[in-house]
Amino acid sequence: MDISIIIPLFNEAESLPPLYEWISRVMKENKFSYEIIFVNDGSTDNSWEVISNLKSQISNDNAVVHGICFRRNYGKSAALYCGFKAAQGDVVITMDADLQDSPDEIPELYRMITEDGYDLVSGWKQKRYDNALTKNLPSKLFNATARRVTGIQLHDMNCGLKAYRREVVKNIEVFSEMHRYIPYLAKNAGFTKIGEKVVQHRKREFGESKFGMNRFVNGYLDLMTIWFLNKFGKQPMHFFGLVGSLMFLIGAISICVVAGMKIHALCTVGTSMLLGVNPYFHISILMMILGCMLFLAGFLGELIIRNSQSRNDYLIKEEI
Ligand code: UDP
Ligand code: MG
Repeated sequence: MDISIIIPLFNEAESLPPLYEWISRVMKENKFSYEIIFVNDGSTDNSWEVISNLKSQISNDNAVVHGICFRRNYGKSAALYCGFKAAQGDVVITMDADLQDSPDEIPELYRMITEDGYDLVSGWKQKRYDNALTKNLPSKLFNATARRVTGIQLHDMNCGLKAYRREVVKNIEVFSEMHRYIPYLAKNAGFTKIGEKVVQHRKREFGESKFGMNRFVNGYLDLMTIWFLNKFGKQPMHFFGLVGSLMFLIGAISICVVAGMKIHALCTVGTSMLLGVNPYFHISILMMILGCMLFLAGFLGELIIRNSQSRNDYLIKEEI
């Protein structure tokens, strides 16, 4: 099978029939064999009914329609994760269900993966039809930060329209709300040929955006998490051990200084401030205790990693 198209959706019933028509027209024109995987992320409208009807109506031999229905709303990342697990095509395309992404882009995305050898091609909504203040501007800021942290030079990392080699989606785990950083997940897994294609974008016709203002806060926290996991996820001691040791060392040195000053004052003046009322004494002790605790956190992290299944999930590119 050439292409798997994964469409996560949450309350998008009106968009689904025209989206399906449009995709199947493009696929037929280009003679692709393909499957569409609709992942219904706990919709409360009649999206699932629409998907069931689509499935029963289809008489096109080239097309296979799958529907996956969650029991409740888990989020876009969960929907993509399950879609990726089910995908069978050589090239996997993800797109939003709200008709904002154009299926006309699929043939070129397919070509970039199969002929130009990209592992992942991300769409770039160069001309965006969303609210300028709440979406376009924050998105520019978000992408600038993401570029710095991840080192991947994409203009639109969170674009819903993306293409992947199948191997990529089978070897990354989109968890929590990490759908915003899939190119980074792919890069961390060793798929480094990441490209970009300017894609058409359209105004939302039906319903409304499913992501509110909390996406700014969560987006940045997730970026920190994913950065930390990539850098120290397999060896937490390298982080906690280093910071803990440094703190302990600073605490130990400063307590020596405090003690030295006390002895010096006793020898020269004959009297000195009680250690208990010297703030530097307490700060030094606190630093030493915190240092020990961070060190212990590193040990605990290592214990957890040693006992987890993912400790040896090395991806092998090829063997001869
Ligand atoms: N979506 C989803 N689960 C959610 C939220 C959104 O599957 O919890 C889907 C949604 O139906 C759409 C896609 O993710 O197909 C992108 O969502 P939306 O269009 O609301 O995002 P925006 O374009 O406003 O960034
Ligand atoms: Mg949208």
